[in-house]
Amino acid sequence: MTMRIEIDTAVLRGSIRDIPDFPKQGVTFKDITPLLADPVAFSSAVDAIVVSFGRGTVDKVVGIEARGFIIAAPVAYHFGAGFVPLRKPGKLPYETVREEYELEYGTESLELHVDAFSKGDRVLIVDDVLATGGTARAACNLVEEAGGTVAGLAFVIELEFLEGSKRLQGYDYISLLKY
Ligand code: AMP
Repeated sequence: MTMRIEIDTAVLRGSIRDIPDFPKQGVTFKDITPLLADPVAFSSAVDAIVVSFGRGTVDKVVGIEARGFIIAAPVAYHFGAGFVPLRKPGKLPYETVREEYELEYGTESLELHVDAFSKGDRVLIVDDVLATGGTARAACNLVEEAGGTVAGLAFVIELEFLEGSKRLQGYDYISLLKY
């Protein structure tokens, strides 16, 4: 179970840059590069995720390509857990499991190495943004297919109006900033 911790979100919120109409018309892109470049904001975000779940509760941390990698790797280090990349098709060199999921237009796929987990590994999935939840749900399915147990999910940002939480029912998740 996650602990509902109080964090000072002002620094984090102040380090997110809105980019209108990127990558396409009508989408406001949440740019986390200023957060990553700010030592206080970056370490606060990583610490808040680690403290929310607590040391000793996670064996592997999965980062979703590409921005998820950047947050997931220091989170894994602080947990004393392993890091596992979830990648776009054709990028992982060994045998993979693959999951296709719906996007607003068309489909997308993600892959995971078949041997990424030991049986019963408790897995935390990390990404920068929870939008419609399609990516996160596909990540849960892949982790389970590869033999892991989803301990939870963590996002820096949640776009609540896109109702991604509906796709994550039954899973424990946190988001540091809600819009
Ligand atoms: P979704 O599957 O709709 O929840 O989309 C989540 C994925 O798309 C994450 O990997 C995000 O990095 C990316 N994403 C979706 N919407 C945005 C946004 N408005 N700003 C930045 N990244 C986004």
